[in-house]
Amino acid sequence: MLELINIHKAFKNNAVLKGVNIKVKKGDVVVILGPSGSGKTTLLRCINFLERADKGEIIFDDLHVNINNASSSEISKIRKKTAFVFQNFNLFNNKTALENVTEGLIVARKVPKAEAIEIARKALSKVGLSNRENYYPSMLSGGQQQRVAIARAIAVNPDVILFDEPTSALDPELTGEVLSVMKQLAREGITMVVVTHEMSFARDVANHIVFMDGGIIIEEGPPEEIFLNPREERTKQFLSRIL
Ligand code: ATP
Repeated sequence: MLELINIHKAFKNNAVLKGVNIKVKKGDVVVILGPSGSGKTTLLRCINFLERADKGEIIFDDLHVNINNASSSEISKIRKKTAFVFQNFNLFNNKTALENVTEGLIVARKVPKAEAIEIARKALSKVGLSNRENYYPSMLSGGQQQRVAIARAIAVNPDVILFDEPTSALDPELTGEVLSVMKQLAREGITMVVVTHEMSFARDVANHIVFMDGGIIIEEGPPEEIFLNPREERTKQFLSRIL
């Protein structure tokens, strides 16, 4: 469904991605692991052109985009197929939970307001926040704010949701509620690519683990293989430090 081919990205002379290839099938939960600075977030941002890679190709179903000459209509098609959940939620502070979810539907997707409200209410209910639709972000806990951000992502009915360390800005007691919403989405067959340091989520929910270091993929495979029987020394070292 989604394929990244030979993705390269440098910031000035700091080469951050050095030829990354990933395949994501419909319904996959792909978790990207790796030490700080290995390029995980940059890779995720390159998928939906939040960051523009220097070189490579993105194939999304029948859309085949060469990054060097991607047109703005191709970029906008890719963006419509994806939704991004940020580490720091990125909610509008002057909008209620409901308005945060309807905004993208009304403005970017031109959904009529009444319909947008209906979709947003369903999405907020899915993340357990029906009783908070009129709350502003400042009145919500971090976990609730991130669940609003997830509702916003679901609402646009993307082909894939990209999660960038969705729990790392949260106090430990609030990560569980966000992870359980993500687990629920995975059970429903929503395709997800997740950058996280939450090893239990990676082990229990992912069906494919990608381990990156130094801007390349060192090793990938099903979680039982990567966690129990890693082949590469760098993967072994990483796992021994964090497990
Ligand atoms: P972490 O787990 O710490 O978030 P990561 O694996 O997600 O790390 P990235 O955030 O992709 O790594 O960063 C990889 C490298 O790219 C780092 O050296 C970082 O400083 C650099 N980098 C990322 N974004 C930018 C940017 N906008 N401008 C310049 N350098 C950047």
